[in-house]
Amino acid sequence: MEQDRSWFDADLLDRFERYARVHTTSDPHSSTTPTTDRQFDLARMLEDELRALGVPDVMLDEHCNLVAKLPGTAAGGEPIGLMAHMDTAPDFSGEAVNPQIHYDYDGGPIALGEFVLDPSEYPMLSRYVGQTIVTTDGTTLLGADDKAGVAEIMSAVAYLIEHPRLPRPDLEIVFTPDEETGRGMETFPVDALRSAFCFTVDGTDEGSIEAECFTAWKATVTFTGYAIHPGSARGRLANAAAMASMYASLLPRSESPEATDERYGFYCLTEISGSIAQARLSVIVRDFDAQIVERRLAFLETLARTVEGAYPGGSVRVETVRQYLNMAEFLEPHPRVVERMMEAVRLTGIEPTLHSIRGGTDGARLGEKGIPAPNLFTGGQNLHGRYEWIALPAMVRASKSILNLVQLFASA
Ligand SMILES: [Zn+2]
Repeated sequence: MEQDRSWFDADLLDRFERYARVHTTSDPHSSTTPTTDRQFDLARMLEDELRALGVPDVMLDEHCNLVAKLPGTAAGGEPIGLMAHMDTAPDFSGEAVNPQIHYDYDGGPIALGEFVLDPSEYPMLSRYVGQTIVTTDGTTLLGADDKAGVAEIMSAVAYLIEHPRLPRPDLEIVFTPDEETGRGMETFPVDALRSAFCFTVDGTDEGSIEAECFTAWKATVTFTGYAIHPGSARGRLANAAAMASMYASLLPRSESPEATDERYGFYCLTEISGSIAQARLSVIVRDFDAQIVERRLAFLETLARTVEGAYPGGSVRVETVRQYLNMAEFLEPHPRVVERMMEAVRLTGIEPTLHSIRGGTDGARLGEKGIPAPNLFTGGQNLHGRYEWIALPAMVRASKSILNLVQLFASA
């Protein structure tokens, strides 16, 4: 495929630049789905482009879920899904994005208006000296998360359609809204998919594959006190606000987000409020290991009893809800899925690396709905801010990895 390098270079650069310019910031404070109507601007553009490429079955629903189906060319393959999200993070402006293309990057600091993207701070830049890289102009984020994923899937699809002799299974192309707000999967039409597996293209460093994420729970702890005039409270008052504060102080600091990394999970106090009569706090619990999560949830119950013991007359109630599960659970029975991802990356000439996500993805939520969905790199760096950048050769490798993956699934 070396002769197609320049085709991919041109096609990816053109697509990425166009998609990045569309303002698709999502909004965590909105209660609609999608959370912002502007996400339809990109969805409609992609809908038109997929139709123009000749994809016969393209559906965009009222919640901005775009599902397109491209029939396979090989008998006996397994249908697979390819997924990316269209929104960009609300953390930083995504309006009027003006991608800056730096051909033949010289390896030095890059001026982004009044800011500087410096390889001494971001050493990954040095890997791409002499290559084409794309940055922001310093005023917005770039939106490589996840417009790069969208472009990489679109280029692979365009290539497959131009090369019908390449064996491919039935493909389901999925572009979703609101990944960044965690709301996208709420309205996702899972029943529209036939694929047993779906690959999200929403990772970062070139070569990386993510097939594991946290198992996540949230606990809401409610403290009910006994309120009485403080002047005559001796031996009778139970102060709910003080109970909540004791509870929060007993959460182990050594198991907080700021004290952990790699495979260690944590408790994180995310909210606290209240008065003498009643108080409430929220704690999120994260770990890769389901048994450790269980133990942590049991510990939150133990803490409740401890605080009750210290405040006679008061009571503490812990309610827990599961947020998402470690996708490794769903992938474990199908080791060939990750093996084929590794092989697909290897075929592009680099060594794949396996990582665990210290968070969740839409893929994790899709796994719970019955379609395991590991995550492939996009090449995007410094996501969600003005220092975001991406190297074109990384995008080319991501797109070619998708092509390789498709061919590997063309036979069972
Ligand atoms: Zn993303």
